[in-house]
Amino acid sequence: MSVVVQKYGGTSVGDVERIKNVANRIIRRKEAGNELVVVVSAMGKSTDELMQMAHSITDTPKVRELDMLLATGEQVSISMLSMALQSKGCDAISFTGAQIGMRTIGKHGKSRILDIDTKRIQSALDEGKVVIVAGFQGVNENDDITTLGRGGSDTSAVALAAALGCPCEIYTDVDGIYGIDPRRYPDARKLSSVSCDEMLEMASLGAGVMHARAIELGSKYGIEIRVASSMDEIPGTAIKKDMPDSERPVTGLAVDEDESIVTLNGVPYTTQTTARLFSAVAAEGINIDMISQTPQREGTVNLSFSAPTAEIPDLREVLSRYREEFPYKNSHIDENIVKLSVVGSGMRNQSGVALQFFRNFREAKIPVLMITTSDIRISCVIPKEDADKAVELVSRSFGL
Ligand code: ASP
Ligand code: MG
Repeated sequence: MSVVVQKYGGTSVGDVERIKNVANRIIRRKEAGNELVVVVSAMGKSTDELMQMAHSITDTPKVRELDMLLATGEQVSISMLSMALQSKGCDAISFTGAQIGMRTIGKHGKSRILDIDTKRIQSALDEGKVVIVAGFQGVNENDDITTLGRGGSDTSAVALAAALGCPCEIYTDVDGIYGIDPRRYPDARKLSSVSCDEMLEMASLGAGVMHARAIELGSKYGIEIRVASSMDEIPGTAIKKDMPDSERPVTGLAVDEDESIVTLNGVPYTTQTTARLFSAVAAEGINIDMISQTPQREGTVNLSFSAPTAEIPDLREVLSRYREEFPYKNSHIDENIVKLSVVGSGMRNQSGVALQFFRNFREAKIPVLMITTSDIRISCVIPKEDADKAVELVSRSFGL
């Protein structure tokens, strides 16, 4: 019998009726002849609520305790789903991350999966059970509970599929992957398939449908991933590793609202100026994206880079340490920006895509504050207030 990993997101298990709906879907699939390993997220908005609970005690909860708390959300949904299946006469068993040896490394709140011991899952499957696994959580080298970062259940699911050597189905509240978030742009079109490369660029840009690390893992291990709605039987979108480059220059547009720009003015210039800054930033596990540096003038440079807004408090500490070594004149943090990106494997072998992209900003007089590119992506930072207009113009110009 072939194994399949399914993942149901928070909305799909948001209340008792929805949990029963998921149980019915699982039963139908089992009757069709599959063995199922099902990863679930916490019910509805319960992770947010747990987060608020923590912050009602202190503004600065310790990350270890926060992980301990947040991981309980998934423990609720796995047991509820398992009970729902059992009450319908379907044998099922729920497991936490620790129980299936989901070993992680890295910092609390953003750990990475190192290894999964599939023995216990395999023997439960051999007994004919549906296996329900808590997403988003694991245990580290100290046996402490860790979490994988918000939205991390996708990664749990793909990692399990890689460990079991089977396909992965991600069920969510949208019916597939769109070129643009349909909540932002109602005319957006659904893609029937998308390459891992394109998806990875979009996910890391905050396109929001899937956790970026899940796509990375899928790409690395060649896992077949399908994203579809948990509410209907529409086919959804296939994420494929090997796909011919698209005919269209742009497949998707993403807007990331969770980034800020940090600027340091008058940084004393040596050959170590940038290296020291970014190694200090990396040591804190902070992911920075765009970087620009002005030419040297009177022995100093101005440095700008973008970083997740959530990391700004940590970043301030890094900057004050850095300032002791490189006494820069002043710093400025701008949170009122968005990063707008277009992605498409088709731009690899077409020219004029950048021109077509930037023409929109010129015509609408929208200032472009920073730019980066990869071989299949062009990103720029613009003021938040111009985001909607820019999305509209760029989507129209590329026929998204
Ligand atoms: N429950 C976690 C979150 O809300 C993990 C997930 O949903 O994937 O971020
Ligand atoms: Mg999610």
